Amino acid sequence: MNPFSDYALLDALLSSIAVLSPEGRIVWANRSFCRLSEQPLENLTGLPLPQALTLAPPYPEDEAGAPLPPEDFTQHLLEHAATCPAECLLLRAGRAELSYAMIGCVSLLPDGHRLLELKENAQAHNLHQQLYEQARRDALTGLLNRQSLQMLLHELHQNTADARGYALLLLDIDRFKVLNDYYGYEVGDEILLALGYHAAGLLDEGQSFGRWSGHEFLCVLPGFDLNRAQIVAEKLRLALKDRFQDDELLPEGGPRELTLSIGVAAWRPEDRSPQFLLSRANAALFEAKHRGRNRTVTDDKCRGDSIFIAAGLLHDAIREGRLLPAFQPIVELSTRRVVADEALARLITPDGTIKPAGLFIEAASQLQLAHRIDIAIIEQTIQHCSTAPFSGIAHFVNISADLLRQREGTDRIMELMQLGCNRCGLEGAAVKPLVIEITEREMLNDTREALDVLRPFIDFGLRLAVDDFGSGYSSFRYLVDLPISFLKIEGELARHAATDRRVRAIIRGIQAIADDLGLITIAEHIEDEATADTLRDMGVAWGQGYLFGRPELASAPCILPR
Ligand code: C2E
Ligand code: MG
Ligand code: MG
Repeated sequence: MNPFSDYALLDALLSSIAVLSPEGRIVWANRSFCRLSEQPLENLTGLPLPQALTLAPPYPEDEAGAPLPPEDFTQHLLEHAATCPAECLLLRAGRAELSYAMIGCVSLLPDGHRLLELKENAQAHNLHQQLYEQARRDALTGLLNRQSLQMLLHELHQNTADARGYALLLLDIDRFKVLNDYYGYEVGDEILLALGYHAAGLLDEGQSFGRWSGHEFLCVLPGFDLNRAQIVAEKLRLALKDRFQDDELLPEGGPRELTLSIGVAAWRPEDRSPQFLLSRANAALFEAKHRGRNRTVTDDKCRGDSIFIAAGLLHDAIREGRLLPAFQPIVELSTRRVVADEALARLITPDGTIKPAGLFIEAASQLQLAHRIDIAIIEQTIQHCSTAPFSGIAHFVNISADLLRQREGTDRIMELMQLGCNRCGLEGAAVKPLVIEITEREMLNDTREALDVLRPFIDFGLRLAVDDFGSGYSSFRYLVDLPISFLKIEGELARHAATDRRVRAIIRGIQAIADDLGLITIAEHIEDEATADTLRDMGVAWGQGYLFGRPELASAPCILPR
């Protein structure tokens, strides 16, 4: 007969009860205790208490304020809680998180056995809930954090079997970094807080909104297809823009507009994980930025590939030599004589489609593959110019920040340059035909560091050009810190020279700086005669654009059999 059959009555109680031997081993436990320890009574019998349950104090216990280790705490509970109950937390073995908040109470039985009773403590339970909530929330905005969003997506994805699907909106505050740098972190934090506050009030029940990364937010819409999700995205974008305006978050005296770009992606049956949607939403967001920000783009309207697809394409293309330079002429505007060309990367897909750099270069940077593209393009450019009859024109090449960070990359380019120049008998020439284009987007933060990396090229006789000048805020610094020879005026600016008086004022300013510093200006994206003439009359020296010639591959792409 079970000597503890009397205790069987305790099975009916809600609290978790165990009978412990004088040595602290479990002699018997009620059903609730077995549930709590996740073990059947047979396994529990004979186990020392700490092996059945890990109990820990909910607050620092020793004099130094450090919590007692769980073993010591259990001992403490058994020794001292005979009369007064102690608060404790139940830690699940092997998992870091708290899973229960208890109150422990030990009664002495006549035969030296002890009865341990664990009850849920509402207050401690609330604390536990609070800690759990805190772990799910972003500390600044109080929104769901990335981890919670990932869990939510995972669950939602597993439940898409009911074919209702779900959609994602990836929101990004336009030019947040610039605003943050300009106005300071406090204003930046205010913007993030305001976004979270307003967005939460604009969504319906069942829709979730959280902070995905620094200034990116994710909205999860269960049961939504692409069209309906786009409507929600536009509603959010416009409403948030209005609220931002009402809030007057940005102090006077600098950029005042606060806008959002949104990428939308909806579940497709072929999506094997939420990662596929996320990467499409990311590509759509990138496209929204590329089209001028302050807009919503859906994943079916993306020009670029999602990073997932781009990664596969790029790795294969690099390995199989399917990255080729296309050369676009650069002319002197006063004579229309070709004075230079720019090598632009083209990716040839296995079926022979030619993808321009604009579709993959951003993904390549994110995947830290851009330097491999640079090396492939520069190598072929040098090859091309050193084998073709000497034309005397300059060859502009684009380089990425990745390349500047890789010693092997810059060494390799130097080596190729020396070989090419030797072949052309240019080793002694003070100025070499290659010009390195750097963009603000691609530059290192520290221009002195950039100068250190570029120094061997400059000493060798290569010249530097600032690409897309006028698109950012800090490229003026390059003019001070780096020995620049060319200023390429950003296409979006240059293309409006004939039609917009304000654009002309800006270009006149750029030209005055260039004249003062002895730099050659090159206007990009010239597509019509009126623009070419206007720019020429304003003193811009050289021009590049579809009017003078599109980028053309030097040789027909050779498609390797796969
Ligand atoms: P970018 O260096 O400013 O090059 C000019 C871009 O404008 C090229 O796009 C060119 O095809 C396009 N373009 C030229 N004329 C016109 C025009 O009249 N109208 C319009 N709308 N566009 C014109 P692409 O080739 O797609 O390259 C995009 C960007 O990708 C380049 O901008 C450059 O920043 C980057 N890139 C290109 N090749 C490389 C490379 O080998 N390495 C690195 N790191 N970046 C590259
Ligand atoms: Mg360029
Ligand atoms: Mg450019």
